[in-house]
Amino acid sequence: LARLRELQESPVMDHALSASRVAMQPDGSRLIKFFFGEELPFVSHGSGVFVYDADGRRYLDGCSGAVTANLGHADPEILQVMAEQAERITFAHRGTFHSEQSEKLAERLGAMTGYPYVFLCNSGSEAVETALRLTLQYWRERGEPDRARFLSHAVSYHGATLGGLSLSGHPQRRWVAEALLHGFNELIPPYAYRFAEGRDDAAFTAFLTKRAAEALDSHGSGAAGVVVEPVGGAAGGAITPPDGYLPALAELCRERGLPLIADEVMTGLGRTGTMLASQHWDVRPDLVVLGKGMGAGYTPVSAVLVSEHVVDAIAAGTASVTNGHTYGGNPLGSAVALAVLEAVESRNLVANAAERGKQLRAGLEELAARHEVIGEVRGLGLLQGLELVSDPVTRSPGDPVGSLTRSAVLAARERGLLVYPATGGINDAILVAPPLTVTAEETDLLLALLDDALSA
Ligand code: PLP
Repeated sequence: LARLRELQESPVMDHALSASRVAMQPDGSRLIKFFFGEELPFVSHGSGVFVYDADGRRYLDGCSGAVTANLGHADPEILQVMAEQAERITFAHRGTFHSEQSEKLAERLGAMTGYPYVFLCNSGSEAVETALRLTLQYWRERGEPDRARFLSHAVSYHGATLGGLSLSGHPQRRWVAEALLHGFNELIPPYAYRFAEGRDDAAFTAFLTKRAAEALDSHGSGAAGVVVEPVGGAAGGAITPPDGYLPALAELCRERGLPLIADEVMTGLGRTGTMLASQHWDVRPDLVVLGKGMGAGYTPVSAVLVSEHVVDAIAAGTASVTNGHTYGGNPLGSAVALAVLEAVESRNLVANAAERGKQLRAGLEELAARHEVIGEVRGLGLLQGLELVSDPVTRSPGDPVGSLTRSAVLAARERGLLVYPATGGINDAILVAPPLTVTAEETDLLLALLDDALSA
């Protein structure tokens, strides 16, 4: 962990991660700068896995926007549901009146994932925050209000609100909230590539588990729960734990009675080739956070799935919980999300993610054999990450960290392929995560474009 902190202090390429910078040019035109201060293409429209800029230039969306557009762009079925619902009613507030669309959505989501309670929100961050709050409420009702510390991995991303920022290990995100919320990001990330040289999976799992137990116990009766991305996403690039780790972490939580919260905002709803990524290891978290793929880019919508025993404890308590969001469960968003879930089922997109994921993985490994800049290929299903290295022997990232990521993203973009920068602040990495609807031919095209970009 000390080594990790040292790396997190090292110079990181300045990239505006959370906001566009808009500047007026002398000629009166607007310049929008986003990642890496580069000009981004203005997208005028999209269709399936492709988006087009104002000049008609085509880009293969190799990262589903921010791993969100799971059905691709401008899906006719979803657009029709959106239009029909918009004509009926778009808004209903739970404090005043109710809509059947949110009921249907919650029911469907519960049935697809096996959770009895569903709390609807609007964004991943809001749902993470809600999961934290429900967990705090759980402890309060059980008579242990001092349990207020959450543990998460020191390379992770959990959203842009204060709780999420505090959980996130990214130095550029974390510092804002560090002084406010304590006891976060203390778990060693399951990042074998640079931290477990010479260790096999079993030895690395044992090491991670021992250190996680120590971290949990160091908080004594102050620990409230553990928050984990089953496969890391935006921070570090699809960091995938050794097989024994997530079950071991779940067991540590169970032994101590601590809720395990899976942040599946990026991994949930089919992305990794199973409905929830936790299912790869037969882990059933106490709470699961969903977002991104739930609205698939068509609407802002998210949810927290909650186990019976957590809700029972809260319901049996004396304090009433109020945690409503004005737009949470609105009829338009709910109808669209319901149509997205139906499409995921009726089009067999979870199976397609598994199948195309195998093809993508094999292709990326073939690229890794030819391009020295690829240090590791990792991930599950259609959430694949490439660790980029300046030297395959020392496994060093770019200097400064982030510069290789930048080159790769730009070279790919110039060739009509969009990939996602996922440096984690300590390494160079990109995510390759096309829509779950991607075909075999489109996957081949993606690989060919990436091959060309990496050669450059
Ligand atoms: N959690 C994870 C794992 C994410 O990847 C993200 C977004 O990238 C979030 C939470 C936050 O979601 P949102 O940006 O919708 O607030």
